[in-house]
Amino acid sequence: KKTLFSGMQATGTLTLGNYLGALKNWVVLEEEYDCFYCVVDLHSITVRQDPAQLRKRARDLLMLYIAAGINPEKNCLYYQSHVSAHAELSWILNCFTYMGELNRMTQFKDKSEKHSDNINAGLFTYPVLMAADILLFQSDVVPVGADQKQHLEITRDIAQRFNGIYGDVFTIPEPYFGKAGARVMSLQEPTKKMSKSDENPNAGILLTDKPDVIIKKFKRAVTDSDNQVIYSEDKPGIRNLMDIYMAITGSSAAEVEKEFENSGYGDFKVAVGESVISVLKPLQDRFDDLSKNKDYIDGIIKTNAEKANYAAGKTLRKVQRKVGFPDRI
Ligand code: ATP
Ligand code: MG
Repeated sequence: KKTLFSGMQATGTLTLGNYLGALKNWVVLEEEYDCFYCVVDLHSITVRQDPAQLRKRARDLLMLYIAAGINPEKNCLYYQSHVSAHAELSWILNCFTYMGELNRMTQFKDKSEKHSDNINAGLFTYPVLMAADILLFQSDVVPVGADQKQHLEITRDIAQRFNGIYGDVFTIPEPYFGKAGARVMSLQEPTKKMSKSDENPNAGILLTDKPDVIIKKFKRAVTDSDNQVIYSEDKPGIRNLMDIYMAITGSSAAEVEKEFENSGYGDFKVAVGESVISVLKPLQDRFDDLSKNKDYIDGIIKTNAEKANYAAGKTLRKVQRKVGFPDRI
């Protein structure tokens, strides 16, 4: 079986973007791959976090993975901070990554504009830690949203560079983007991607939002004023809502245009909201059940951390040997 790795930051409650762009795809891949799904808490502190909140969000995130349908007995769900090999390999890979390469990363540019009071070195080397995450497990495939394309490319470059010097140490990973929903946009600024760390509460649908909140947010979604449901470059707001509706219902743009040919934006927005509720309601029910089951979740965390540590340790030792660190006695 081939290996798959992916992860999410515990920087907020997951959004519909995280779900449609990544999580939804994860669920269908477990038959084909050995999957490692990480809660990337090391990455999360590249932006300042409140400790108690980070701890809670990390646990909620792990439970959301399970609530979304990922079987924690078949897949390895774990916290990045429980596997120290991530940080160790990341250091080594830092020494094989150029400042110039990292300077070109658009996520760094976006995040340093947003957090101009805290442009720390971790934010800059974020992609190197991500490369370490992926390469540690000799991953063949990495399912992510389109915003992570550049980070996957640098991961491949770093791996190829390292292999070029030391022989075939790392598997070169391939990205996996889902057909629909790879880039869900903000409901308030449809030219910006939806993000779980957005401060504007109306910008994103959270996976834990109740039905009335979901409908309200869609009703407030920014659109143009011509009131026609048409898929067009010039209508980023409506196009985004159509993309969401298409990702959930599986219909094509032409079919959606036809379906709403005689309705205005008001009716269409409610229909989009209802399609989202139909997916999120069962997920939320499962999440509530899991929240009441502390021992079960604790068990998963413990067993999976051991599994991840074992797999990661194998690659780390090989790398340490290759670069010339002394053997342990
Ligand atoms: P943050 O704002 O803290 O960076 P985020 O919403 O961007 O949060 P990440 O943890 O950075 O979430 O990314 C988790 C996964 O979700 C990645 O695979 C990423 O590609 C995907 N993703 C994030 N935002 C979107 C989006 N708007 N549309 C589709 N996929 C997305
Ligand atoms: Mg992000």
